Amino acid sequence: MAAIGSSKELSDIDRDVQSARELALLGQYEQASVFYEGVIKLIQRNVQACSEPRIRDKWLTMRQNLTVELQNVKNIVRILDSMHMDGGKGARRFDNMQEDRGAGDYDDYQNDPDVFGPQQPHFAQRAAPRPANRRSNLPAEKPAPKPVVVPKSVAANRVAQARANAAQAKNSPNAPVKGKAAPPEGKGNPGAVGGRDKDKIPVKAEDKPFEPSGYDKDLIELLQRDILMRNLNIHWSDIAGNADAKRLLDEAVVLPMLMPNFFTGIRRPWKGVLMVGPPGTGKTLLAKAVATECGTTFFNVSSATMTSKWRGESEKLVRLLFEMARYYAPSTIFIDEIDSLCSKRGSDSEHESSRRVKSELLTQMDGVDSGNEPGKMVMVLGATNFPWDIDEALRRRLEKRIYIPLPEKEGRRQLLDICLKDIKLADDVTLDAIADMLDGYSGADINNVCRDAAMMAMRRRISGLNADEIKKLDPNEIDLPTTHDDFEVALKRVSRSVSNDDLKKYEEWMKEFGST
Ligand code: ADP
Repeated sequence: MAAIGSSKELSDIDRDVQSARELALLGQYEQASVFYEGVIKLIQRNVQACSEPRIRDKWLTMRQNLTVELQNVKNIVRILDSMHMDGGKGARRFDNMQEDRGAGDYDDYQNDPDVFGPQQPHFAQRAAPRPANRRSNLPAEKPAPKPVVVPKSVAANRVAQARANAAQAKNSPNAPVKGKAAPPEGKGNPGAVGGRDKDKIPVKAEDKPFEPSGYDKDLIELLQRDILMRNLNIHWSDIAGNADAKRLLDEAVVLPMLMPNFFTGIRRPWKGVLMVGPPGTGKTLLAKAVATECGTTFFNVSSATMTSKWRGESEKLVRLLFEMARYYAPSTIFIDEIDSLCSKRGSDSEHESSRRVKSELLTQMDGVDSGNEPGKMVMVLGATNFPWDIDEALRRRLEKRIYIPLPEKEGRRQLLDICLKDIKLADDVTLDAIADMLDGYSGADINNVCRDAAMMAMRRRISGLNADEIKKLDPNEIDLPTTHDDFEVALKRVSRSVSNDDLKKYEEWMKEFGST
């Protein structure tokens, strides 16, 4: 892989974004998703490596936009899949629409302007009364009329738009809950549990919406929309290796949530846990698994979001975040890149506003002590690639400090299984041997190698073809087995992102400050 931020990498990103978009426009959604996922990972590398806030913001915005595009593509795939469920019953219903007007679901789609936009002239024509069996009235030599007139890409775009609108409406704090009246229009109801998955997010007994006073509505919405996360569905088994980290997190976070009465007094839970390690080793995944495994409300805070969007007001956001976390307790507040929120005090780069954010965070963390209310636990889980930059006061509050290392052989092997579970492998591939070749690679690097290797056959197949020719390819022609050579080539292209010097630095820091 090209060096982070190099012109080669930038042009790779540019090329992959273009490929993703072209494939999406051509209706090759699966391939488009692969490109989107890959390029998002490349951008993520740059986010992690970039220390210049202004440039990092730009990377973050780009990542955000591409994530939305990817989500739209995935929504389209889901919708198309659902139309082909039941042995194509849905698709047949689509095909037979001219015969079966009034036959349930299809008409619902057809009449839904959110899905198909304003009625097309051909729909209006079809609205005229027709013979019961139109096909039998057609001249024998003429083929039956083509049923679906809306081009696939247009329909798909509209469906995607409809989905996006629906998702937006669902995520909106004012979205009604099934069986519950929507809040009065125009009246802010920020804490309403609308759209919340009740299985995932604990609902207070009285089910009262969270309505703090003295906060800006936008700020509350930001928290509800971008930070409060639902349906994470990441389990320990989704994370390769990291057995020690899983055990420590289980003991430090999950068990206290499950047995709050035991973890009191001297056994009180840690106020905060810090995950330290090179980028791409699964820290974020581990945090999500913690929240899934113990069913806590999960607040996912990227310090970059806090400082960029709310510079000047970030300390208010921190206060509100903890207030909301306490309200929905037990909660986990995950702060990614916590070093950039809490760099060493007095360092040159420290702005007045970031000093305020930092002190607010420390104050709030002192207040998260659950005291006599074990069920009201709020756990702060931080992650950093730069532990040496963290303020001492914060470090002291993050009492448990866990190292998340590069994966060992066993972890690499498990990760290969996870990454390649849907990929056809040629007979000459031995995953044990590939795991050996990946020594020194991070989880994210391994993911990139697998992605690159898994795309080689497709790249070879579409090389030299124009868009029309690509469009005509049968999916089976593209989905060819990945060979050992593909992995060899991918390994040459994707180099490890963590150097031995970096590893030494982590080990030294852990020796001095770790507490595992
Ligand atoms: P970090 O937070 O340590 O920088 P992430 O948790 O964001 O790393 O991991 C980045 C990506 O790398 C994940 O989305 C996942 O695809 C892959 N990955 C890294 N480590 C693991 C792991 N141990 N198990 C499964 N996937 C992993």
